[in-house]
Amino acid sequence: MSAALDVIIVGSGPGGLAAALLAKQHSRSFLILEKGGQTMQGIIDTYPKGKKVYPTKPKSYPDPFPVMEVKPPDENVPVEAYVEQADTLVKDFGLNIRHNEEFLSIDGDFPNYIVKTDKGSYVAQNIILAFGSNIPNDLGIYGEAKTVARNIENGEDYIGINVLVIGGGNAAADVVSSLSKIKREARDDGTSVYWAHIKETFEINKDTARDLGEEVLLGGHIKILQKAIPKIGEVDADGIDRLYIHQTHSAGTGNDMYMYQGMSFPMKNVIACIGTHGPSAIFDALNLQQITCTGPICKIAKEGERLLMLSDHLETSMQGIFAIGGAISPSYMEIGPDGVIKEKKHSNLIYTAVLDAQIVMEKILAKDNAMAGG
Ligand SMILES: Cc1cc2nc3c(=O)[nH]c(=O)nc-3n(C[C@H](O)[C@H](O)[C@H](O)COP(=O)(O)OP(=O)(O)OC[C@H]3O[C@@H](n4cnc5c(N)ncnc54)[C@H](O)[C@@H]3O)c2cc1C
Repeated sequence: MSAALDVIIVGSGPGGLAAALLAKQHSRSFLILEKGGQTMQGIIDTYPKGKKVYPTKPKSYPDPFPVMEVKPPDENVPVEAYVEQADTLVKDFGLNIRHNEEFLSIDGDFPNYIVKTDKGSYVAQNIILAFGSNIPNDLGIYGEAKTVARNIENGEDYIGINVLVIGGGNAAADVVSSLSKIKREARDDGTSVYWAHIKETFEINKDTARDLGEEVLLGGHIKILQKAIPKIGEVDADGIDRLYIHQTHSAGTGNDMYMYQGMSFPMKNVIACIGTHGPSAIFDALNLQQITCTGPICKIAKEGERLLMLSDHLETSMQGIFAIGGAISPSYMEIGPDGVIKEKKHSNLIYTAVLDAQIVMEKILAKDNAMAGG
């Protein structure tokens, strides 16, 4: 087998690319494994076409943006331009990416880990898990069909049909304003984008809200359904899979009866942006220590959820294996130098993924220097 690489990076999103660039700048040997056919495949798969990318920095985090080459431009370019920026970066710096190669497992021990993929295996001293967090949540309703989309592949497909977008966060808001814009710009499209959220309030950031407000003011056909509950999947008389949702039910009418009033949409006209769940099962398979949230320990994760344990340099319980970016959002368990473990909030943003990459590479370089110095 060939000599050990300094770092294997799993995933070519903003976090993985930033780590690769820093490795290159410090003359470390590295390889990025990307299961998709393109750099930034995760972003390509999850952002609506034309969605603006914001260089949002979480409150209280330091300026400037950690690795400027990966920063989305301040003028909020569409996602296609951001992906192009990444392609140029890869080309200009000669970053070594194996596309269409999926990371599967890790064998061996530090400093000679064997990283297995669907195409072969590599030896590496350090591994950075930057595979994002894009395992979509289920609607959790009886009869859910696989035909419910998770994002828009082609917005034009929705011209002339009423579409239902489910979800109360930024991803849903982005889909709603993109679809509304496409419909508004199409001639004679009198149909609407129905936007349903299970709660009364929506949780979207300022930039997304601004886009949405602009779309409403420009005459977008957006109909908001608060406290709307996806109820059941059913097949109608024409054999079409439909999703039924309702907003309120009248008080029980006695005899255990409830009255519902609702709407139903063909599942193929439903886009569910209801978040993703973390890669806990993958961390388990890699034998990385996770801690279960119990009692008041966790404020972000729910009781019973398992969070990856990481040092303040994002090193897992196995030396030389790090996890960054979306893969550790929205929170992880940080074990401080004093041994105290606490839940740490980790916003799923490009900024945080890139900052993580910087923190990890600093740690790897410092370890190397310490070893070289004896
Ligand atoms: C709709 C939407 C809009 C958003 N808008 C913004 C925004 O405007 N500004 C902002 O800051 N953030 C935004 N975000 C969040 C931002 O995209 C993420 O925080 C960021 O992409 C995380 O980067 P990452 O490198 O950790 O992971 P990702 O970007 O998810 O990249 C992970 C990569 O790993 C690859 N991968 C996964 N599994 C494997 C495997 N087993 N083997 C090999 N490769 C693998 C994936 O294909 C993917 O390319 C948005 C998110 C969504 C969903």
